Amino acid sequence: MTVVLNPGHNGGNAAAPAAISRLVPAGFGQSKACDTTGAETNLNGYPEHAFNYDVTLRVRALLQARGVRVILTRNSDSGIGPCVDERARIGNQPGVAAVISIHADGGPVDGHGFHVEECTCQPAGATVAALSHALTVAEHDALVRGSGLSVSTYLGSDGYLRRSDLAGLSLATVPATFLELGNMRNDGDARLQSSPAGRQRIAQAVADGILSWLATR
Ligand code: ZN
Repeated sequence: MTVVLNPGHNGGNAAAPAAISRLVPAGFGQSKACDTTGAETNLNGYPEHAFNYDVTLRVRALLQARGVRVILTRNSDSGIGPCVDERARIGNQPGVAAVISIHADGGPVDGHGFHVEECTCQPAGATVAALSHALTVAEHDALVRGSGLSVSTYLGSDGYLRRSDLAGLSLATVPATFLELGNMRNDGDARLQSSPAGRQRIAQAVADGILSWLATR
């Protein structure tokens, strides 16, 4: 089994506004900026791109230890992009079982918790959409059980949010889900996100969700 982990944003994005603001295809006739800079914690200025990449490396190690092959959409935290359409192309390679996009949110300071995002669209038909939903539920349940984060108090419903404007989901032709692993603007979530032990706990939950979904395939 091969999965693609897609850590959001990149450490070089902030210094390359022209490159990352270039418009690229985002699915269903929409265009979006190539990439964005992401959030950071108010507590200690810990940037989302670093959180996403660190959690991704931890999830990769946990999956590889269980025999899962892992491809990343970026292999450092100091580059630019790749653009959202290129990230989608990496995920849509033959043989990929699922794509998991890894982010943290920048929400209202008094809101906290994770949410998992699903597309209202069906870019590859109903069967793949059902698999994406099952993957999203598996992630949701694993995050509730083990991440140390609550379900979001400020967005969506019970930790689920459906939207139509995420290129990573709109362009995916394989089962895909999109994780917002807490609110960086909230100091409680930020304490978990900015500590290595907190990130390991979150990563373990993300890996557990992927493994439980893979076991049904
Ligand atoms: Zn993000």
